[in-house]
Amino acid sequence: METTAPAPTAYKIFNGLYTIINPETDKHRVFKVRTVKRGNFKGKRLVEVKESHRFRAFAFADAKDNINVWHRYRNWERGLYSKYANLLGSIARDGDASTYVTERGIQWKLAKKCRSCNRNLTIPISIEMGIGPICQQKIADYKERMKAEWQRKGMDMDLEVELGFFDED
Ligand SMILES: [Zn+2]
Repeated sequence: METTAPAPTAYKIFNGLYTIINPETDKHRVFKVRTVKRGNFKGKRLVEVKESHRFRAFAFADAKDNINVWHRYRNWERGLYSKYANLLGSIARDGDASTYVTERGIQWKLAKKCRSCNRNLTIPISIEMGIGPICQQKIADYKERMKAEWQRKGMDMDLEVELGFFDED
């Protein structure tokens, strides 16, 4: 389970399970955000919705907290998946300040997982950051290695931008 790829750094859209509840209808939807660990999409953050007993992937979450619905799902089911993306994006980005919450009374819960390895988070600081301590260290090490390599090659690059990291500090 070793990985050398840097985890995409998330800010507001965390990996994990978002349960979004409409108290008016008493219905809920479960969305999953996870980082792909292998294959063509390795490193990308997949957005899925639970349909009956399986999750359907329909979008990627990018490094700027946008949820980009895959082309074939954009107009599918009269735009249902685009609506899901708007709903989840709004709640993930704005939380209780989302208009879905303030104006429509939508409720939500989030069970966070590590944005690098998708494992459950248990340490309070890790839950807050959305990444476990081991993965955080791996990313820090990776950044150091890249920095050293670029300096050795005389390349003047913005590490955060080039690696797609957008840490808030
Ligand atoms: Zn992890």
